[in-house]
Amino acid sequence: MSILSVKDLDVRYGQFRAVRGVSFDIARGEVLALVGANGAGKTTLLRALAGANPVYAGSVHLNGTDITQMPSHRRVAAGLALVPEGRRLFLDMTIEENLSLGRTAGREGEWDIDRVLETFPNLVKRRHALTGTMSGGEQQATAIGRALMSNPDILILDEVSLGLSPLVVDQVYASLDGLLKTGTTIILVEQDLTRAMTVADRVICMLEGRVQLDSAMTNTSRDAITDAYFGNSRRKEGLSA
Ligand code: ATP
Repeated sequence: MSILSVKDLDVRYGQFRAVRGVSFDIARGEVLALVGANGAGKTTLLRALAGANPVYAGSVHLNGTDITQMPSHRRVAAGLALVPEGRRLFLDMTIEENLSLGRTAGREGEWDIDRVLETFPNLVKRRHALTGTMSGGEQQATAIGRALMSNPDILILDEVSLGLSPLVVDQVYASLDGLLKTGTTIILVEQDLTRAMTVADRVICMLEGRVQLDSAMTNTSRDAITDAYFGNSRRKEGLSA
């Protein structure tokens, strides 16, 4: 059975259909990269999965349970955690305090503060420091760690690289590497196609709210993804190689 099953999902802002008839399934342990140009609907889709945007039509099932109308906090308790764009941490709390907030979902599992610190060793010395004084990379690791503390069945990461220098992005991905090896099911939005192709088993490319390409990484190519990204009329700008 799929961990997450999305069927004919429509999400609208007023009359505007930002997500149009999107369907896909994710199996346990799969790492899915969601790519697409600015405005393709990636963030809207992720927010709808997490319950932050209302669904206009279609359904979302998590472990076989229909969560389409479930409020966000109950989705976390049901096993779905989103690391949103912009991280949304409490900057005047310590890293450890921010991590502890992830526990409030009350889900049992292997993730606790020690395991998060093992996965993101750059946080070890900073665990009692105020989050607002941390670097962007340390804050991103904290945001991911906080989501893991809820022991999710599926972790959804929206543009972990956003606003970080290339060096810091490398550091975040280096620490994510440990997480990827644990077999956690992950959906991640990543603009850097090389990186997406390296970390993910599967890619979905969105174009104007629709799924343009859905393929195992081993069955596709950079050219095919780039074609899907631009809707066949290839242009050079916009997609970082
Ligand atoms: P980006 O990479 O720029 O974050 P995206 O693929 O995540 O892009 P979304 O942010 O989901 O795309 O936006 C999809 C479409 O919905 C865009 O046309 C955007 O302008 C529109 N949109 C997003 N948020 C809102 C909103 N709050 N109200 C109205 N329209 C919105």
